Amino acid sequence: MSDIMGIQFTDDTLKQTAHKLSTIIDENYVKLHHVITANPEIALRIIENEEFKNIATHADIITPDGIGIVYASKMLGRRIKERVTGFDLVVEIFKTRKQKSKSLKVYALGAQPDTIKKAVNHIENTYPNVTVIGFRDGYYKKEEEAKIVKEINECKPDLLLVGLGSPKQEEFIFRHKAYLNTKVAIGVGGVLDVLSGNVKRAPEFYQKIGMEWFYRLVTNPRRLKRQLSLFKFGFKVLGVALGIVKKPS
Ligand code: UDP
Repeated sequence: MSDIMGIQFTDDTLKQTAHKLSTIIDENYVKLHHVITANPEIALRIIENEEFKNIATHADIITPDGIGIVYASKMLGRRIKERVTGFDLVVEIFKTRKQKSKSLKVYALGAQPDTIKKAVNHIENTYPNVTVIGFRDGYYKKEEEAKIVKEINECKPDLLLVGLGSPKQEEFIFRHKAYLNTKVAIGVGGVLDVLSGNVKRAPEFYQKIGMEWFYRLVTNPRRLKRQLSLFKFGFKVLGVALGIVKKPS
């Protein structure tokens, strides 16, 4: 584990994390594992918001979702080797199932109604050993939430993907953690949009040179306010690394 600004990130690589979660899924009596894929925006929320920090403290795995976290690790002398994004993690878990005899049962919650349908079709057509046993779009009324949790529990998925955006998705998993009948729950942000084909990921070139955030900013300038948290997080880390700012506990 690497402590970055008081957040306990996993040091595991993408493949190691996917393998760990896949093994948890294969075990029989395990408690729900809550996975947070923390980009700098989420990391900043953990540092600045007490309630959200409490959710993160109770999460089982926090992955470094973004090059900003990897650089922060380097600056602070920690051991994170690579970023583990929500999209890559979900796809890697799906891939690990190829060699397994049992099909992976997935429930997907989130995104617009047409998007989630497209995402489900894509998953089922691309990953033969993965079955989406239930899905629901992410635009429902608060009163419907209990019914949704009941439906998830009736489906008994191995893996629950919650794509409601942050902090909604982390709050949803935390709120229902004790009752959710699933082995692994991941807050996946816009991953369902990418799986649906409606949103494109940055070309591999940008991902390799650590500039996916820049590509996303240029192709969607409305993200500017959100992207600023990347810099705010960077400055905070720099402050701690230089000893100017006290490290959050
Ligand atoms: N979303 C949702 N319900 C809501 C608000 C958002 O299902 O009430 C979905 C939205 O349609 C999108 C995802 O949550 O699929 C949020 O994506 P975002 O761009 O925040 O993801 P990130 O940038 O964190 O990957």
